[in-house]
Amino acid sequence: MIMSNDPHQKVRAEHLKRDAYLYIRQSTIQQVFHNTESTQRQYALKQRAVALGWPADHVIIIDGDQGQSGASAVDREGFQKLVAEVGLGHAGIVLGLEVSRLARNCSDWHRLLEICGLTDTLILDEDGLYDPSQFNDRLLLGLKGAMSEAELHVLRARLQGGIRNKARRGELRIPVPVGLIYDTQGRLILDPDKQVQQALHTFFHVYQREGSALAVVKHFYKNGLSFPRRLRGGPNKGQLVWGPLCHTRAIQVLRNPRYAGAFVYGRMKACKWANGQSGAKPLPQDQWHTLIPDANPGYISWQQYQDNMRTLRACAQAQGKDRRNSPPGQGPALLQGLVVCGVCGRRMSVRYHKRQGKLVVDYTCQHESHEHGQDVCQQIPGWGIDQSVGELLLEMVQPVTLELAFAVQAELQARLEEVDQLRRQQVERARYEADVARNRFMQVDPNNRMVADALEADWNDKLRALTEAQEQYEQQRQKDRVVLDDQSRQKVLALAQDLPRLWHDPNTTDQDRKRMVRLLVEDVTLTKNAEIRVQIRFKGGATRELMLPRPLSAWKERTTNPDVIRQIDQLLDTYTDAGIAAELNRRGCRSGMKLAFTAKRVTNLRRQYGLKSQYDRMRARGMLTANEMAAQLGISIGWVGVWRRHGLLRGYPYNDKNWCLYEPVGDKAPSKQQGTKLSKRRMFPQVQSHATNEVHHEA
Ligand SMILES: [Zn+2]
Repeated sequence: MIMSNDPHQKVRAEHLKRDAYLYIRQSTIQQVFHNTESTQRQYALKQRAVALGWPADHVIIIDGDQGQSGASAVDREGFQKLVAEVGLGHAGIVLGLEVSRLARNCSDWHRLLEICGLTDTLILDEDGLYDPSQFNDRLLLGLKGAMSEAELHVLRARLQGGIRNKARRGELRIPVPVGLIYDTQGRLILDPDKQVQQALHTFFHVYQREGSALAVVKHFYKNGLSFPRRLRGGPNKGQLVWGPLCHTRAIQVLRNPRYAGAFVYGRMKACKWANGQSGAKPLPQDQWHTLIPDANPGYISWQQYQDNMRTLRACAQAQGKDRRNSPPGQGPALLQGLVVCGVCGRRMSVRYHKRQGKLVVDYTCQHESHEHGQDVCQQIPGWGIDQSVGELLLEMVQPVTLELAFAVQAELQARLEEVDQLRRQQVERARYEADVARNRFMQVDPNNRMVADALEADWNDKLRALTEAQEQYEQQRQKDRVVLDDQSRQKVLALAQDLPRLWHDPNTTDQDRKRMVRLLVEDVTLTKNAEIRVQIRFKGGATRELMLPRPLSAWKERTTNPDVIRQIDQLLDTYTDAGIAAELNRRGCRSGMKLAFTAKRVTNLRRQYGLKSQYDRMRARGMLTANEMAAQLGISIGWVGVWRRHGLLRGYPYNDKNWCLYEPVGDKAPSKQQGTKLSKRRMFPQVQSHATNEVHHEA
C-alpha cells in the first residue's frame, strides 16, 4: 500500500469547488482577552487553505462562538452552523486548531468528523491535512485523539493528587465566600470591610432569631439592606458588588460551612447532565473529602452551623418545591396541587388560616415573595372556587349529560356503519374480480402456455388485491369498534348517579374528594381581576371557564345595605334618630352586623354617610328656632315653650331631647291676652311630647 502524505494529492478538484470553513474556537471570555496568540494561529490557517488552492474569498470564517463557553455544542450557534454546512456538502475542507485532539475528547467534534467522512470533506489543523474518508487518516486522527486523552488523564491525575493532598492538610488555598478573605500571610480572616462583616452578622443573627431563610430575606427587603457578593469570573473578577438578598442566595450562605470557620474540600461532585452541560451535585456531609472544623475564624460556631442545617432540613420538608405538585393531602382545599397562577404561570400553593374557628383556604402564588420577600403575586380566597368547581364536576357527570354523550356516540356509530358498508362493498368487488380472473384462467387451453401464464399472473394479482382489501377492512373495523357495550354503559350511568351522593356524603374525606377531582381535572388556572376567572382543563383536553365574583372583604361584609341607607335618608325628613330606629325595626331592617337599629346606630350611620340632619332639613324648610320665635313675638323663650304646649304655636322636635323648631306664624301670630286661660286659646291640636328634660317655664 502506498501512503500518500502529500497534501496536494488529497485536495482534489471537487474539494476546491466547495468552500473552505475556518472555525475559530474560543471557549471562555478570558481566552478572548488574553489568548490573542491562539487567535493569530487560527487566522494563519486561512493562509494554509489559500496555499492549498482555495481562493481567499472562498474561505468562510465562523467565529460566532467567541466568548461563549465551549462546554457543549447545544448553545454554540457557530458550531451548529458549521455542522449544518458540512452535512449539506457545502464544505470542501474544515480548518481549525487541534482538531485531532478535540475529536477524541469532545463528542460534538467526533460527530463532525464522521459527517466529514460521509460528505468527503477534508480536515486541516496545524499538524496536517486529513481525509476522514480514508482509513489511514481516520486511524491517525483516532490515535492522536487517544494519545491526547491519555496525556490529559495523567496530567489531571497528577494535579488532582497534589490538590487532594494539600486539601487533606487544610493548606489548599481555595476561593472563599464573600465575608472571608486571605491576609498577606495567606491566613483566612474575616473581611476587614466593616459593611461586609455587618451584613453577614445581621444575616446570621436574624436567622438565629427567626429560624427561617425567608424571614431573613424579608428582613433585608423591608429594611432596604443590601447583601455583598464577590464576582467569580469575568473581567471584573474578585470585585465586590452589593445587591438585594434572594432566597436561593440565603440558602447558599446558610449551607456554606466556611462561615462556621471550617475548612472543607470536596463538598460537591462534578457531574454531567443529560443535556450535555456539566454541573455539580452536593454530597452529604459524611462524604466530604476533607472537613476540618474551627480551621479559621468564622461568623458562627460549628455547633451553630449544625443547628442551622437541622432547621433548614425541617423547613425544606415543610415547604419544599415538591409540595406544590404533591399528592392529595389532608386539608380541605379541593384543588390543592392543581392550581396554576394566571398571571405568571407558576403553580399556586395552598394556605390555610382560621376564621371564626373554621379552616379557610386561600390559593396563593408566592414564588416571588419567597425569592425576594416581596408581596405575593396573587392571593385568592378558595372557598367559592372549590364550591363552583365541585358543582361543575357533578353537573358534567350527571346522568343526563352522559345520556347526551351516549346519544352522540350512537349517532357516530350509525354513521360508521354506513362507511362500513361501503368498505365491505370494496372487498366484495375485489373478490368478484378475483373470481373472474380465476374463471378465465380455468377456461384457457392449458397448451396455450403464453396465454395461460399471463392469466395466471393476473389471477395472482387479483388474489393479492383481495387479501389486501380484506386486511384493510378488518383493520378499520377494529379501529372503529366502539368500546362501550350496553353493560358498561349501564355501569357508567350508575356511577354518575352515585357520584353526587358520594360527593356530599359527610363520611367522604377531603382527600377522597380531591382524588375524584384529580381523576377528571388536569389543572385549574386562576386570575383575579374585577372578577375571578377560573379556567378548568379536564383530562382529555376539554376546557370550561367560570367567572366568579370576588368575595367581599371582611369590612364590606359588615357594611349596611345601601337600601337601608336610602330609607334612613327619606325618614330623616320627618323622624328623629330614635324614631328612625323604631321605624326601621318595625320594617324588619337589620344593620350590617345583623343587629336591630338603635338611635345611636342611626346617628353613626347618618354621620358616616354624610346625610343631612333633620335639623338642617327643617331649617331649610324655613322653620324657626325658639330664640327667633321669641324675638318675633316679643316674648321670652320660656313662653314659646308654654305656648307650644298649649297649642298656640306649632313646633316639631328635631332631636330625641324634644328640642323643637317652630313653624313661622305669619300674620296669625298669637299675642299676650291677660285673663284668658291658655287651655281655652288652643289653635292647633295637641302635639304628643316624649320630652324628658324639657325645661318648663310657668308664668
Ligand atoms: Zn403568580
